[in-house]
Amino acid sequence: MLRKKFVTNIDKKREKTIFPPVMNAQPSLSDSHSRMVSYLRFSVTDRCNLHCLYCRGLNEEHVLPHDHLLTYEEILRLADIAWDLGIRKVRLTGGEPFARRDCTHLLLSLRERFPDLNLRVTSNGTLIRPHLKSLKEARINAVNLSIDSFDRATFARITGRDLLCEVLDVLEELLSLGIRVKINAVAMKGITDVQLPSFLKAIERWPVDVRFIEFMPMGSGTLWQETIFLSADELVQKLQSLSSLEAVRERHKDQGPAQMYTVDGCKGRIGIISALSHHFCDSCNRLRITSDGNLRTCLFADAMTPLRDLLRDPDVRNEDIAAVIRNALATKPVGAELLKAKRAIAVAQGHMDSIGG
Ligand code: SAM
Repeated sequence: MLRKKFVTNIDKKREKTIFPPVMNAQPSLSDSHSRMVSYLRFSVTDRCNLHCLYCRGLNEEHVLPHDHLLTYEEILRLADIAWDLGIRKVRLTGGEPFARRDCTHLLLSLRERFPDLNLRVTSNGTLIRPHLKSLKEARINAVNLSIDSFDRATFARITGRDLLCEVLDVLEELLSLGIRVKINAVAMKGITDVQLPSFLKAIERWPVDVRFIEFMPMGSGTLWQETIFLSADELVQKLQSLSSLEAVRERHKDQGPAQMYTVDGCKGRIGIISALSHHFCDSCNRLRITSDGNLRTCLFADAMTPLRDLLRDPDVRNEDIAAVIRNALATKPVGAELLKAKRAIAVAQGHMDSIGG
């Protein structure tokens, strides 16, 4: 009897070594290419007060009827489901997130529900000023501001509004509140390359990372064409001719797909997001929810999984929606091939404002 007990204990010990107990392990979500998925981006509205030439088509004024948008309650429910699946980073984007009423209530509710969530927002910065205190209160981890030019006239030409000064004021106020800021700039030949000195001045002056994003052929009727495309390699070459740039070798889990560079004498850094020329599909950890509640597992794939009706159906449980998300992940593509095809036709279905960039 004693022996039997002894043997059983040894077996249990052995079993524990082979299969270590999973103690309060964080749930994890992976796709059929074994990529771990931990980052969810919500486009909270497709409306925007700017009309950036790389994002919206000329004469494009399509906006979704309000009842097509996910309500904040639906977004929070989806965030709950996502958290249970292992999502630990959420970004609100758009359109312009602050163009939707009470966007900061959503941020505060997300923070209240998930104190440890890595919570971020991408904004054009023009409507943030009244919400600065709430951003601080929501302990936002970073605000990404889109600033495609530090020249007032060029900024106005790209965005359709002469609001650079307001955005720069907001940038300074965010920093003075101790909120981390990153700057996103879409790289465009004849615009970005000739204005690189002003971006370098910005990181000399402010402790912010400027990330140049290769122009992607999304939407129809945008400025996209091969001749305006400025590759990551061209950008690095030009930057190197202007300053002493050093590639950051160690990848920080926070840097996302950007290759970061330090620059001599600067408080901030340069990042290059080479979505087209050196794609980063192998390490893609993202899911996107469009403003009308469709799940997109890949920015470059037009296939979407509708979630809105499920969220609105009182008979559908969270577990059912989680299963739909897991199923969609089984077909999350490696987008690089799709992107090549899109580049060939220079048009991809779906606009950045409803997908969220
Ligand atoms: N309104 C906010 C803003 O201006 O940042 C958020 C929405 S915007 C669609 C989100 C991000 O998508 C921005 O950082 C923008 O630079 C990026 N983006 C939009 N269109 C793009 C394109 N065609 N290629 C590369 N990046 C793009």
